[in-house]
Amino acid sequence: MFKNKNCLVYGMSISGEWASKLLVKLKANVFLYDDNLEKLKTKPIKSCYVLNTLNEKLISQFDYIIVSPSIEKDNEFLLLANKNNIPILSEIELASKFCKKLVAITGTNGKTTTVELLTNILKKRYKAIACGNIGYPLSRAVLENKKQIFVCEVSSFMLENCQTFSPHVATILNIEPDHLIRHKTMDEYTKLKYNIFKNLTPHDYAVVNLDNNICPPVDALKITYSLTKNADIYLRNGAIYLHQEKIVNVNEIKLKGKHNLYNIMCAIAFAYIYKIKPSDMRDAIINFTPDKFRIENVGCINKINFVNDSKSTNIASTLASVEAIKGSIILLLGGSNKELDYSKLFLKLPKRVKQIFAFGEIANDLIACNNNKFKIENEIDLKSAFNEAVKIALPNDTILLSPATASYDQFKNYIERGEYFNNLVKEYEKGQVR
Ligand code: ADP
Repeated sequence: MFKNKNCLVYGMSISGEWASKLLVKLKANVFLYDDNLEKLKTKPIKSCYVLNTLNEKLISQFDYIIVSPSIEKDNEFLLLANKNNIPILSEIELASKFCKKLVAITGTNGKTTTVELLTNILKKRYKAIACGNIGYPLSRAVLENKKQIFVCEVSSFMLENCQTFSPHVATILNIEPDHLIRHKTMDEYTKLKYNIFKNLTPHDYAVVNLDNNICPPVDALKITYSLTKNADIYLRNGAIYLHQEKIVNVNEIKLKGKHNLYNIMCAIAFAYIYKIKPSDMRDAIINFTPDKFRIENVGCINKINFVNDSKSTNIASTLASVEAIKGSIILLLGGSNKELDYSKLFLKLPKRVKQIFAFGEIANDLIACNNNKFKIENEIDLKSAFNEAVKIALPNDTILLSPATASYDQFKNYIERGEYFNNLVKEYEKGQVR
């Protein structure tokens, strides 16, 4: 399909880089372009032609355009490609054409946790690899692995410019307000998420959480899960069941919170489709520990608990973390502006949150949205928020970093923010902070 074809890879992010390498392997003529010309200089890719400019005449000569997730669908060059009837493919769409066994997970929250847990479960019986939005592009996974089940984490950005992506099993974990600067409306965001189901056939499966029921009409088999309703996977007497079979007692699971029960039930649904034995499912679930910065217990010092949930970048994920933590909480909230409506956060937070320290770009906005419901202080940055929190913390309180937004105003990403918080805890332990 791509041999000797002129393919433009637009956007030299890590997925663009690996899409190019995949196309070179497929013997396409590969051209690279990025709006930031510097990126093209720093990432030379063997056997590819680098373009310093792009215009309608050039675009009309391509057979395919492969776009990185960062390129929006109303980008001027993509509009020109559409006008000239040049097929546009997202990177996952290109790579998916070379995976026999592909499953896909999207949702606002819980993607990484569910993808990693599911991969661990599938590995009990098959070769399986976690890929996609987790930082290991599907194109790279396809190039580096054979005869695998590809467990692909899919973001809404990846589902834009995506027409033919067709996994064998797909799910949308949840949809909550996020990424609205790019997608503008919840309707548009939801529509993009639905793209994950678009090409399912009657031989494929949609995994559906009956408690949020996010599934458009699909021509596929359905496997369902629920905490409250009759479903294929459900909760009874403190245990998760698959049909009549008990899979795991909730008190054996290391993952904390109701939201993680949903993630686990979703992974069980996929595992059932791939005929994993219940005892293997149980074993993988009870041995699974989540990645760092997701309700990570950092320590208990002077009887104060420190929890790092730096990966929480929207309101729903912060509410999920607060719900998962017992007792009284001092919440560190804030970061860069995603234009979310924080009044919804303050409406739903429990009174166990005894104090909030707001920091970063959105601190003023948070204080305005709080509308005097919770005790809240404005702090310049995470360090001063942390210092104030330890001053007022009492034994058995939890100081929780769960920022409910991105970190880009003061950090490179959530990882840097998470490491920074863990270092503050370490310094506090050494007695250097007070
Ligand atoms: P994603 O890859 O979608 O960002 P992660 O598994 O990395 O999801 O978790 C990101 C954040 O969302 C963490 O703060 C985590 O505690 C929270 N979270 C995880 N699963 C869910 C869920 N099902 N619903 C709400 N919040 C969740």
